Amino acid sequence: MLLSLGKMKKKMLLNRSAFKRFLTKLEKNPPRGLDNMAVQADKEVWAETDCLACANCCKTMTPTFTNTDIKRISAHLEMTEEAFKKKWLKKDRAGDWVNTRQPCQFLNLKDNKCSIYEVRPKDCSGFPHHTRRKMIDYMHVFKQNIEYCPATFRLVERMMENANSK
Ligand code: SF4
Ligand code: SF4
Repeated sequence: MLLSLGKMKKKMLLNRSAFKRFLTKLEKNPPRGLDNMAVQADKEVWAETDCLACANCCKTMTPTFTNTDIKRISAHLEMTEEAFKKKWLKKDRAGDWVNTRQPCQFLNLKDNKCSIYEVRPKDCSGFPHHTRRKMIDYMHVFKQNIEYCPATFRLVERMMENANSK
């Protein structure tokens, strides 16, 4: 069973520097087969992860909404794209459309389910991006997400365990 959010946060505070050092080491000197190592660790992580018991990403972070996302979701909600943006979104410093509020307006706080699951932003469906090719390009994302996502925390922990056992 994956760590609870509370336990993960305590453990993260103790291990944050070591985890980030490990990711920086991988970034500077990626071992052969890094993507496959991540795929293997990812399988192990999801076997013990229940996102519906967590939903911390939807509660504390915002996805970016691409124009395609906005088009699809606003159509699903029978709103114009302009009305959708005006109601829920703002532009961040990078010029990306993001939520104005957290938790996300589409999260049902009673059961942690996404009310627009079938049409959710691509950023949400790909989160937490564990098996992206190339993983190396996502190290900065993992360094950030170990503080929010128990699954990413466990992924990095698992990869460290695997590296140390060799
Ligand atoms: S992806 Fe991570 S933060 Fe989001 S619900 Fe799953 S474990 Fe929690
Ligand atoms: S759109 Fe759905 S999956 Fe994405 S942050 Fe909101 S509630 Fe979570």
